[in-house]
Amino acid sequence: MSGQVTDLARRTALLVIGAGLAGLCAATELQRAGLQVLVIDKGRGVGGRLASRRIGSATFDHGAQFITARTDRFCAAVQGWSAQGLVREWFKGAGDRHARWRGEPAMTAVPKLLARDLDVLLDKKVSGLRQNESGWMATLESGESIQAGAVLLTAPVPQSLALLDAGGFVMPPAVRAQLEGIEYERCIAVMATLSGHSKLPPPGGLAPSEGPIGWLADNQLKGISALPALTIHATPAYSLEHWDVDRPATARELLDAAGPWLGASVTGFQVHAWRYARPAKVEPQPCLALADDHPLLLAGDAFGGQRVEGAALSGWAAAEALLAAAAR
Ligand SMILES: Cc1cc2nc3c(=O)[nH]c(=O)nc-3n(C[C@H](O)[C@H](O)[C@H](O)COP(=O)(O)OP(=O)(O)OC[C@H]3O[C@@H](n4cnc5c(N)ncnc54)[C@H](O)[C@@H]3O)c2cc1C
Repeated sequence: MSGQVTDLARRTALLVIGAGLAGLCAATELQRAGLQVLVIDKGRGVGGRLASRRIGSATFDHGAQFITARTDRFCAAVQGWSAQGLVREWFKGAGDRHARWRGEPAMTAVPKLLARDLDVLLDKKVSGLRQNESGWMATLESGESIQAGAVLLTAPVPQSLALLDAGGFVMPPAVRAQLEGIEYERCIAVMATLSGHSKLPPPGGLAPSEGPIGWLADNQLKGISALPALTIHATPAYSLEHWDVDRPATARELLDAAGPWLGASVTGFQVHAWRYARPAKVEPQPCLALADDHPLLLAGDAFGGQRVEGAALSGWAAAEALLAAAAR
C-alpha cells in the first residue's frame, strides 16, 4: 500500500466494503435513513457468494443454492422479493418443512435489485484501510483512494483483517484473537453442462449421505437453466484435502463420483473454488464495532449466521449500530 492520495481520491460519509447480501442490506438501510453511502466490491458483479454463471446457454447457481427464512424480518423481506418476482419457492425441506427459495432468474436477482439504487463501485479491490484524523482512508489496488467518515467491512473476516493489517490498525489482543479464530469451510464447486437430462429426481437438489460430494443440483429442474446444467459442491473435508490439487483433475474426480446421477455425458465443465464458503461457527454478536469516533464495523455471515439470512441480519444490525453512532 502506497498511502498516497491520488487525484482519483473520492470522499464518502460511509464506505461499505463488500457488495454481498450483508453489505447491500446495510447500505440500503443507511441510504434510506439519509446517509451518503458508497459500496465497493472487488467482483465484476454484486452478490458475493450469491453467485450465478452462464456457460453458453446453460445457467448455474454455483454459490448459495437456496434461501431459507426463519426470522420475522427476513421472512417479510423474502415475501417482498417474492411479490416482486425476484425469488420463487423451489421446494420445502423434508425435515423442517421450511421453503427453499431460489432466485428468479438466478441467485443474483436479489442483490442486483438491492444494488440498483445504490452507489456501487465494482471491480475495485480494497488493499488497505488506514485510520486518519477525518476517519478512514481506503486504498485500492488500482491506486485510487477513498476517504470515508465511517466504514463497514463485510468481506469474510480473514480478508477484512488483512485490510486492517495493511493499514496498521491495532486492536485489543482479545478482539484480534477472536477474529483470528473465525475459520471458514472451503468448497470446490464444479459446473458441468450435460448432453441430456440428468438422473436427479425432482426437485433437482440432493445431498448425498456419503462420498466427496456434499450437494448436487440440476439447474434445469431447478428452473433457472434452459439447458441441462449440474452444480456439484464437494464436501468441506474433500475441498480442504484437494485444495492444492490440480483443479481439472479434482473436477473429473467429482464428476466420476457424480456418475450415478449424471444420466448423460458431460459436454464441458468449469470449476470455482470458494476459499471462504461458510464460517465454521458463528460469533455471538450480530456485528462487531472496532472503532467508535469514526465508526468501523465488521459484519457478514460470520456474525449473523452461516446462511444468506444470517448475512442479511448482520447487515441490518450493523446499519442500526451505525445509525445509533451517527445520532450520538
Ligand atoms: C458453495 C456455497 C453454498 C452455499 N449454500 C447456501 C445455501 O444453500 N443457503 C444459504 O442460506 N447459504 C448458503 N451459503 C452461504 C451464503 O452464500 C453466505 O452466508 C452469504 O451469501 C454471505 O454473504 P456476505 O454478505 O456475508 O458475504 P459475501 O457474499 O462473501 O460478500 C462479501 C463481499 O466482499 C467482497 N470483498 C472481499 N474482499 C474485498 C476487498 N478486499 N475489496 C473489495 N471487496 C471485497 C467480495 O467480493 C464479496 O462480494 C453458501 C455459500 C457457498 C460458498
